[in-house]
Amino acid sequence: MDASELITRVAASGLRGRGGGWFPAARKWVAVRVEGGEPLAIANGAEGEPGSIKDRHVMTTRPADVLRGLVLASRAVGAREAIVFLKQSFDAPAAALEAAVRTTDLGGLGVSIRRGDDSYITGEETALLEALEGRRPWPRPKPPLPAAVGLQGRPTLVQNVETLARVPAAVDDPDAYGAHETTLVSLWGDVRRPGVYEVPLRTPLRAVIDRYGEGALEEIGLVFPAGPSAAPLLADQLDVPLHPDDLRAVGSALGTAAVLVVGASACPIGVGASLAAFFEREACGQCPPCVQGSRNLSRVMRAVEAGEAWARDLSDLAEAAGFMADHGYCAHSRTAAAAVTGLLRRVPAAVSAHLAARRCPHGGAVRDPFHPASPERAAIEAALA
Ligand code: SF4
Repeated sequence: MDASELITRVAASGLRGRGGGWFPAARKWVAVRVEGGEPLAIANGAEGEPGSIKDRHVMTTRPADVLRGLVLASRAVGAREAIVFLKQSFDAPAAALEAAVRTTDLGGLGVSIRRGDDSYITGEETALLEALEGRRPWPRPKPPLPAAVGLQGRPTLVQNVETLARVPAAVDDPDAYGAHETTLVSLWGDVRRPGVYEVPLRTPLRAVIDRYGEGALEEIGLVFPAGPSAAPLLADQLDVPLHPDDLRAVGSALGTAAVLVVGASACPIGVGASLAAFFEREACGQCPPCVQGSRNLSRVMRAVEAGEAWARDLSDLAEAAGFMADHGYCAHSRTAAAAVTGLLRRVPAAVSAHLAARRCPHGGAVRDPFHPASPERAAIEAALA
């Protein structure tokens, strides 16, 4: 099968990228191809979203599918050289991939496995290019996109490993792939069985929680379909289908499908403070609007949670979020703004109650699910092991 046939088949399958953006894979391939030069392909296996374990799962359990997809994608963009990029601590995926490299027919493609550091931002597609070039993993301003100017200036395809693992099936039978498309979901938080599950797209969110997670541990308060990367949904919104377009239509997103369930006993403002703290902690330090803005979001959320905020603090938060939405070299800044303000819009009564009571009126345990050492994150990571 030549490059144009591969691209035609992947376009017909409707395959979209699983790195969070759900961008059509075939369009990404065409963009690299039109640049000419000496292209290169990179499989991005450096996931870092809180709660997301699905990329490590697919690399460990289906490494040959990742490599076959990488071979096909490389052929489609004209690359003769490819890299699988992982975080430093991803020993099990690295071992599985190294073994698969020895036993899989790579069709002459040169594949190397490289590791960056464990920082969250290393998984961003241009930050990993910086890491591979031996510099601090800070995202590059865009444009140019990696398709035009990637590793060492070469046209570069950067594709998520789950996406690549889906390529062989999409190429084999595009119609069947499109008709029965699934996606990997990392289901975590207040569910009976946290773990990674292969779920048909458009399954209602409530059915994902009940069928795969064996139900919530208590009455549901919030569900974050994209982990920290989008506004949460309320319990009465869970009939929405698990699909990026349907979730966008209700003001949220699917992202990497790290679906976090939060019980109603948790204070939603406290969870919002955890969310804002995540963005403050992981801002790489490069762009002042992101660094200062995420610090402001976090400060105000902590003040609201403690009952120490005033209405003007919420105006400050809205102003900071508005500025962040248009600034920053990567999506971190605008995602922070959208997720935190989206959460506040979902729970106006909780915001008012905190401002009026001058304390947290919610009671119950303090929850910080997005913290690296949270029990919620430990439970989903244990499911990977
Ligand atoms: S937007 Fe934030 S995370 Fe992204 S490059 Fe700028 S400072 Fe770093």
